[in-house]
Amino acid sequence: MTPTLLPLLPDAAWIEQLPAAVVVLVAGIVRYANPAARRLVQAQQPGDLLGRPVADFVHPLDLHRVLARLRHAEGGGTNPVTEIRAYTCSGQPLMLAMSSAVLPQAGQAAVLATFLDMTARAAMEQRLRQTDEEFQRLMNTMQDVFYRTDAQGITRYVCPAVQHVLGYTAEEIIGLPAAAFYPDMAERDALVAAVKQHGAVRDFPGRMRRKDGVIIDISISTRALRDEQGNFAGVEGIWRDITERKAMERQLEDLATRDSLTGIHNRRSILAVLQQRLLQQQPQAVLLLDLDFFKRINDRHGHAGGDCALQRFTEMVERHKRGDDAFGRLGGEEFLLLLHHADAAQAGEIAERLRTSVKAQPIALPDGQSVNLTVSIGVTQTTAADRDASAVLLRADRALYRAKQQGRDRVCV
Ligand code: GH3
Ligand code: MG
Ligand code: MG
Repeated sequence: MTPTLLPLLPDAAWIEQLPAAVVVLVAGIVRYANPAARRLVQAQQPGDLLGRPVADFVHPLDLHRVLARLRHAEGGGTNPVTEIRAYTCSGQPLMLAMSSAVLPQAGQAAVLATFLDMTARAAMEQRLRQTDEEFQRLMNTMQDVFYRTDAQGITRYVCPAVQHVLGYTAEEIIGLPAAAFYPDMAERDALVAAVKQHGAVRDFPGRMRRKDGVIIDISISTRALRDEQGNFAGVEGIWRDITERKAMERQLEDLATRDSLTGIHNRRSILAVLQQRLLQQQPQAVLLLDLDFFKRINDRHGHAGGDCALQRFTEMVERHKRGDDAFGRLGGEEFLLLLHHADAAQAGEIAERLRTSVKAQPIALPDGQSVNLTVSIGVTQTTAADRDASAVLLRADRALYRAKQQGRDRVCV
């Protein structure tokens, strides 16, 4: 320490002990630096700091501000704390909080400046900013909707993707109860109950109402948030719009179970219904229907005419169906009608009514002509002993065979 500079300090003894860096500057030149200041800039010897202009240690872009503050302090003004970029003697970057005030000395405008090392905090803030920016970038590009609610179910965060899916901006949703977007409150309650019970759920099904009123299918994966005491503090997770997937699943299900020409159960599906009802011991009357001389329809009116006749016939039968009855096409012009809980008398009556009404209604075909179909029907009852759909079908088939043998257009039991 240069002895001539010491008199600048009124109470040098305790300033030497101060853990904060203290510097005295006269005309922008360092005239005193306490040990903490020397450590801060990693000065090896006093000359590394003493006698050098402050400009040697300050980032060029911050120098103007630093010099303006020093001048302000020289004039007796007070300076609030300011953050400046600086360098150690070896050129390592520092982030410092600087405050300065005048140090009244005879004949010299000296400024007392203190510096706090903010480098670590600045680096942490930079990392936080980066993490935050990365999070925002991720949220901005996400197709799925990330959200967070508090313990009361109020939405505290939702990412921008929500606008594509629900039509509301994130700002419109934040602050509102998440339940406001569920068409059925019970679905939201079920989700919250499952999350509270299991801590987290994956692919939980649900529905939401879009801004335009359309209901969409969603799939939610979410987890419970807990506060320091372990109390439920809300939920956080992701949901996605699966409306298209659901529609495709329904379409596939339709393709797998519906007859493409008539829209009724296909063979596999109607036999599955029969099998299920047998297992549940629900008595059924089983009607096997076969159109008479159908080959002739095709021969006279073409395949398109035959198809049209099959569709009109299906519609006629559908009109005779009761609530839980099931109707399917086994193939060609052969159909199966399951009359739920119908006894033999009821079944005979329905079959007979069906037969006469088919015969009575002319069908208009695409070629402009019209035909009257007739149908032969074999009827059987299921019993508690029946386990197997194919055995039941065989009985109905035998009855149908008799109907054909006896001249068609009739019902046989
Ligand atoms: P019957 O039952 O009275 O003994 O005579 P049928 O002429 O109906 O007898 P069969 O069962 O031998 O013939 C059924 C015909 O149905 C054969 C086929 O040309 C026709 N057919 C089968 N499936 C279709 C179809 O999907 N569309 C059309 N247009 N015709 C079909
Ligand atoms: Mg036939
Ligand atoms: Mg046939």
